[in-house]
Amino acid sequence: MQSYSLIAPAKINLYLEIIGDRPDGFHELVMIMQSVGLADRLDIQPSDTQKIQIYCDHPQVPTDKTNLAYRAARLMCDTFPQMYANYGGVSIRIEKNIPVAAGLAGGSGNAAAVLVGINLLWKLGLAQPELQDLAAGLGSDIPFCISGGTAIATGRGEKLDDLQPLGNMWVVLAKYDNISVSTPWAYQTYRQQYSETYISDQARIAARTAKVSSGSLVKAIAHHHNSEIGKLIHNDLEKVVLPTYSQVAQLKAAFAAQNVLGTMMSGSGPTVFALCASEAKAIAVQQQVKSQIADPQLQFWVTKLATTGIQIKA
Ligand code: ATP
Repeated sequence: MQSYSLIAPAKINLYLEIIGDRPDGFHELVMIMQSVGLADRLDIQPSDTQKIQIYCDHPQVPTDKTNLAYRAARLMCDTFPQMYANYGGVSIRIEKNIPVAAGLAGGSGNAAAVLVGINLLWKLGLAQPELQDLAAGLGSDIPFCISGGTAIATGRGEKLDDLQPLGNMWVVLAKYDNISVSTPWAYQTYRQQYSETYISDQARIAARTAKVSSGSLVKAIAHHHNSEIGKLIHNDLEKVVLPTYSQVAQLKAAFAAQNVLGTMMSGSGPTVFALCASEAKAIAVQQQVKSQIADPQLQFWVTKLATTGIQIKA
């Protein structure tokens, strides 16, 4: 039987605003998500047994039932029991290139690739919106990881409106290997410090979302005004993460001093990214910041913005 190789890109947040609490315990968000070229590769093939097997040699990635790729495969088996009975289990090999627990949705992208891969392997014929509905139950970022490109994400992050895809900027990503920020901690701390700004009224939530959708950043994206985009990027979670993690704040300051288009933390961090107009500029910025900070724990990646989500590799 056929096997599939899938490319699962990382994402950065060009915008992340926390609007309030939701009855389900999650936060109501407005985000602008952007795929980047840095990607994992997943090879998916039928296994000889009914088992779901995960292979990954990255020390921080579990290969048991807690792996998001495993959970995505389990979801497909439970949703399509007849196909599972016919085709059997799957074997999933993950080549991990995206830094783990970095605010780059690496795990979510792997889950997205498994949903796309099993849809192909079992010839289910599900359209992208159907796959995204399934994905939303598994994790808020997974629907975006399937379609990728540039999109506004609302609700928990699972409701998507595509924007004109941006592909003409380069990005430097930097992350300290020895710093990890817990996403639940970041959101809880934000709640403790900023809950007086929260709104729960549906009409006001819709108005805030509409303000972002018709706002200057979205207009700059539509017109590919890269210098404007760089000035308008925003992430509410920086307000709690940067004061607590001084090295992350210093990293952002080091990027800002390089005259980049814009720099910001992605998601709940600790990855910081800098937007650049060209590959040459991105490489120069990487070299400058690397020599200034000179910490062997600080890792860098130079990549381009990407216009697609999960790709099937020929
Ligand atoms: P997000 O941006 O969606 O918050 P993240 O980039 O911060 O995600 P991940 O790389 O997805 O974080 O990893 C978060 C945790 O999930 C890690 O501690 C890791 O052990 C676990 N994990 C489970 N499955 C995977 C996977 N397939 N790839 C990476 N991490 C995984």
